[in-house]
Amino acid sequence: MPMIDQTSQLRAPVLVTGANGYVASWLVKRLLERGFDVHATVRDPRDPRKTGHLEAIAHGCPGTLSLFRADLLDPHGFDRAMAGCGLVFHTASPLIVRNVEDPQRDLVEPATLGTRNVLEAVNRTPSVRRVVLTSSIVAVYGDAADLQGIDGDRFDESHWNTTSNERHQPYSWSKTLSERLAWKIAGEQAHDRERAQWDLVVVNPGLVLGPSLSIHTSAEGVLVMRDFGNGYYRFGAPALELAIVDVRDVAEGHIRAGLLPNARGRHILVSESLSVLEMAGILRSHFGDAFPFPRQAVSNAAALMLAPSRGIPQAVAKRNLGYPLRFDSRRARDRLGLTFRPAAESVADHFRQLLDDGLVPAAARRP
Ligand code: NAP
Repeated sequence: MPMIDQTSQLRAPVLVTGANGYVASWLVKRLLERGFDVHATVRDPRDPRKTGHLEAIAHGCPGTLSLFRADLLDPHGFDRAMAGCGLVFHTASPLIVRNVEDPQRDLVEPATLGTRNVLEAVNRTPSVRRVVLTSSIVAVYGDAADLQGIDGDRFDESHWNTTSNERHQPYSWSKTLSERLAWKIAGEQAHDRERAQWDLVVVNPGLVLGPSLSIHTSAEGVLVMRDFGNGYYRFGAPALELAIVDVRDVAEGHIRAGLLPNARGRHILVSESLSVLEMAGILRSHFGDAFPFPRQAVSNAAALMLAPSRGIPQAVAKRNLGYPLRFDSRRARDRLGLTFRPAAESVADHFRQLLDDGLVPAAARRP
């Protein structure tokens, strides 16, 4: 495994945007445990639902936590938080997959303007030497059906999402546009990489599962796991594959992308793909029959009919139901030295956290 250059980076504070988020909270925790001084941006630092868990984590850690207010839409919103930082983790971006009201206003604008605003602040802050952008596998592919159109049986870092747009998979579109924009802005510095002020390293996580540090989160993976407890799948499991990665491994992937001197390019963070039915089997083996985990698959025709009730357009369901979804994550394993937890562990640990925190309704239990 490559060595992590912690000594030189430890001197400067690090910035984490969207620090209260599901993924970023684990990143902040790991950074504080390693002794970093973390400048954490949130939309409202006075809202205890957003910051209470971060302050509790910071208590007793060797690193220090400083909270700053910043909105993605504010052109100078990140300047104060970024001052003096050596490393920037840009994780903040709206994550809405179901029932998107206004794709441009709710997704594309904050994602792309936010990326521009953060990177322009980086250009104004000479202490920053590296930016780690939280992109996604949805910047790599649009729908599982896209796999049929490529050479090979899995997506890798050479692939880009070419099938999403403002109407079809707008969240994926917003992530694709913002990653492309980040590469463009990074490339507009000195052409010679050695002379550029900062470099960009991108991580592309799959569906992130695993215990949340906050009960006030509605990240997509959390919603997916809650569906298993709230009876959504009681009629059966749709033939869908999910490319899963654990939130704790995503945090570690960010840290390695930030600290390894030779890290560069994109990194797919996926442990393995599981079908909804396989996830149900894992949950049943851990939690027994107390919850309405599906025992059988529903036909694609039935799943297609049910999709809109879950806020998923039929056009999206059509291009994902029944298709395999596979990723090659060798680059993250080899270049970042990451070891991914088995997806079964993430699924079980996540559901246990939802139970422990009372986020799976008791009514969902069978008598
Ligand atoms: P999350 O919990 O919803 O976190 C998103 C963060 O972005 C929150 O802190 C949110 O702040 C912030 N944000 C959204 N709009 C903002 C705005 N206008 N100004 C300032 N902050 C804003 O979701 P997450 O799963 O942790 O996502 C974090 C990153 O990982 C995102 O870039 C997402 O695209 C990426 N990602 C997530 C997954 C996944 O499965 N969860 C997979 C791949 C990539 P508020 O709390 O105030 O809304």
